[in-house]
Parts: sequence; structure tokens; C-alpha cells
Amino acid sequence: MEKEKNKTFMHKFEALEKLYKKYKNCQNCPLAKLGRKNIVFGEGNPNAKLIIVGEGPGEKEDAACKPFIGKSGQLLTKILEQTGLKREDVFITNTVKCRPPKNRNPKTEEIESCTKLLLLKQIDIIEPKVICTLGAIPARVFLGKKVNNLPIKITAIRGQIFKCGNLTIIPTYHPAYILRNNKELQNFTSDIILAKNFSI
Ligand code: SF4
Repeated sequence: MEKEKNKTFMHKFEALEKLYKKYKNCQNCPLAKLGRKNIVFGEGNPNAKLIIVGEGPGEKEDAACKPFIGKSGQLLTKILEQTGLKREDVFITNTVKCRPPKNRNPKTEEIESCTKLLLLKQIDIIEPKVICTLGAIPARVFLGKKVNNLPIKITAIRGQIFKCGNLTIIPTYHPAYILRNNKELQNFTSDIILAKNFSI
């Protein structure tokens, strides 16, 4: 059983490596030419049952080629640890892998390109049970622009459980929002706990 698990882990690790190598100089959307230094592919357990998807890399993430390492990332890491998860237990990535200039929101064509080329393939390889989306942009990737006929608002849909094929989608706030609105920290923590529990 353990041998089988290791084989799956290695197989997925290699498939992710191959995908990264194929696109590490990706030019498939305008973000390639707008000042990015690196493609921030994502990191974590190739066999994770929980994938956390943010919006896009910031300046620190772009420079270090690692997702969620700035202030927002430190908050995310702290909350994961409080719920008994290490970063290495989950897989952390973003909707777009290249930093949008001045941290603007990624545009529709950038999101569509990057999701098709990388995010959906990462999900196919890792085969998680749960995707926890941070902020409105990744929530829209999985749930569309409207939920219950209303435009997506994170305050309205956070902490709810949605089905998207075989996946469970649990949207929550982006940690950058929590840094500005500490009163939502408890809700953010509960949403991460919910995502963890559904992924077990
Ligand atoms: S954001 Fe994605 S699609 Fe656009 S250049 Fe970067 S890796 Fe390629």
C-alpha cells in the first residue's frame, strides 16, 4: 500500500515537473510581456487532497518564484498551521502564474489562457478532492460569474460548499482582505477548517 502511494506521488511529481518545464517561459498571454520575472507555478504536495488557489503572484512571489510568501502568504501559512496543516500537505497556486503589473487584477483573456494551460492541468495531475479558492477571481473560474443568479460576491458565498464535477469547491476570502478586515479572520479560519475536513 505504502509502495503504491509512493509510486503515485512520484508519478504526479514527475508530471508536474514536466508541465512546469513545458511552460516555464510561457508567452501565451499578455502577462508574459508586462514585467514578470518568473512563472510562479505553485508548490506543495503533488498528491494533495486540497488545492488552494489564489489570484496571481505579487512582487515577492514573482522574485522568489514561490506562491504566497508575502504578508498575505504568511497569514495563510499561519492559519493552515492553526488548523493542523503544513504548506507541504496541500498544493498552493494561483489562477494566473505571472504577476500582473502593479498587482492589478488579471484580465479575462489572461485568466482563460492560464487556467486552460496550467491550472486545469495541475488539477488533473494532482486529483484533489477539494479546491479552496481565495478571493473572487478563482471563485469565478470554478463557479462562473453568477451564483443563484447573482454576481459572485465573496461575502455572500464564502464558506459554502459547491460541486464542480468530482471536485468540491469552497470559496473564502483572499488573505489580503483579512489583513485589512481583521474581523473576518474567524470566518476565514472556519472556511479553511471546512476545506481541510472535506479533503480528508
Ligand atoms: S499568466 Fe499563464 S498563460 Fe499568461 S504568460 Fe504567464 S504562464 Fe503563460
